[in-house]
Amino acid sequence: MAKKFHNFINGKWVGAESGETFENRNPAHWEEVIGIFPKSDRKDVEKATEAAVQHREEWANLPVPERGKILGKVGDIMVQRKEEIAKLMTREMGKILKETRGDTQEGIDTAYYAFGEARRLFGVTSPCELPNKTAYTITRPVGTAGIITPWNFPMAIPCWKIFPALLMGNTIVFKSASDTPATTVKLVEILTEGGVPRGVVNLVHGPGSTVGEAILEQPEIGVISFTGSAAVGRRVAEVAGKNLKRVSLELGGKNPQIVMPDANIENAIEGLLWGAFGTTGQRCTATSRLLLHKDIYNEFLDIFVKRTKELKIGDGLVESTDVGPVINEPQLKKILNYVDVGRQEGAKLFFGGKKITGGKYDKGFFMEPTIFTEVESGMRIEQEEIFGPVLSVIKISSFEEGIQIANDVDYGLSSSIYTSNIEWAMKAIDKLEAGLVYVNAPTIGAECHLPFGGYKNTGNGHREGGKWPYEVFGEIKTVYIDYSEKLQKAQIDTNITK
Ligand code: NAD
Repeated sequence: MAKKFHNFINGKWVGAESGETFENRNPAHWEEVIGIFPKSDRKDVEKATEAAVQHREEWANLPVPERGKILGKVGDIMVQRKEEIAKLMTREMGKILKETRGDTQEGIDTAYYAFGEARRLFGVTSPCELPNKTAYTITRPVGTAGIITPWNFPMAIPCWKIFPALLMGNTIVFKSASDTPATTVKLVEILTEGGVPRGVVNLVHGPGSTVGEAILEQPEIGVISFTGSAAVGRRVAEVAGKNLKRVSLELGGKNPQIVMPDANIENAIEGLLWGAFGTTGQRCTATSRLLLHKDIYNEFLDIFVKRTKELKIGDGLVESTDVGPVINEPQLKKILNYVDVGRQEGAKLFFGGKKITGGKYDKGFFMEPTIFTEVESGMRIEQEEIFGPVLSVIKISSFEEGIQIANDVDYGLSSSIYTSNIEWAMKAIDKLEAGLVYVNAPTIGAECHLPFGGYKNTGNGHREGGKWPYEVFGEIKTVYIDYSEKLQKAQIDTNITK
């Protein structure tokens, strides 16, 4: 009998009001049910919001360093449970253990960052233009934050959002992704054990179309932090915009790796294997386009294909596996459909392209790492986010052409260049339209204390990581104190320009 999980509302684990449920299964062994979860709807979101509003004041009144201590303790508990979380995450969404440990570590790092930030959260003190008057800023919570997250980083991404929101004094209504609700239950258990009081964090499981939409429409939720696809991000922006809510969007990518003829080829190949096929290509920062210089084209591809063939595909719980399954059947179908699109567009299917079948592979959703060559700028497989292990290779003749093609997409999250030429490296840093630029490293590998986000359709200008999300979850108050004992009029009683 599969384990039954619940929503967490006002400090209690409860089912959906409707009594409806959904199953969560292992993408490497589809017959394995990880758990049965409440299929919640608007009513559950309303209850969660009510609790979050009710407990706002109590949480906001706690001194920031006290809130920080709780988050530090949360980090400590995550350290103790790292292996348990990683194994559950691998069962739930398929990526290999090394990566689910990394995903958990990112959460731990973010908790400790919040612990430290609690003793900073610096404001500004500023001179005033009038005598006997002083000014400074303080930051207060927005109130209640709606947190909506994807399945591919089920621990790191909720931590990126929830820890800053909590440190800033907000209460939370959190919707987990339907493919990864169990990992988020672990996070909420740990938050509670770490000392987050009743009603401050509320978790509601269920579909985006009901639970997600209801979060966007709650009048009492003042800020939405969303990570997911550009299509859903647009919808989130639309509804949140209509309701004048603050909204932070972290969306998709179509990330290029440029390889110039003077690059360390072995290093560039290792980076590409990791960037294109790590997490089965299901990362917002996955390398989905290789812009390969003509002078090293054949040599590079020969070695790269040989190395791709050596990748071990299978259950992520087996330590020697390099590439796990795709998240679910619809996603596998979507990727296979893109393989057909690539062929129809005239690209050459150079390697892979098929679902892997036979034996253990029939139990899950496994896909061959796939390489298309003869891809041209503008083809759909070169422009659209596939979110799977599919790499498009484009031959370039010059550095300038590489930069132009790299930038000629609607997204701008991550980018990479392999070269030993300092001028090319520096110009790429300058010219690549992406929030992340890696030199001689793959497009993946963000660290928790640095800004993360992108240009164009990758988002709406916000960044996660480091101090940046703290701005999303805070209201800045500018304080003026006049001790002149008379009315002084700004811009009028000044005599600077008289
Ligand atoms: P998705 O957009 O399908 O879903 C994201 C979340 O939104 C889920 O919790 C989903 O249930 C919810 N949702 C769906 N419809 C909704 C609606 N109408 N209203 C409110 N919420 C709704 O994305 P996904 O498949 O879970 O994740 C993959 C996508 O996420 C990719 O595009 C990837 O690039 C992106 N991503 C971006 C980043 C980043 O930081 N930029 C990080 C990871 C993933």
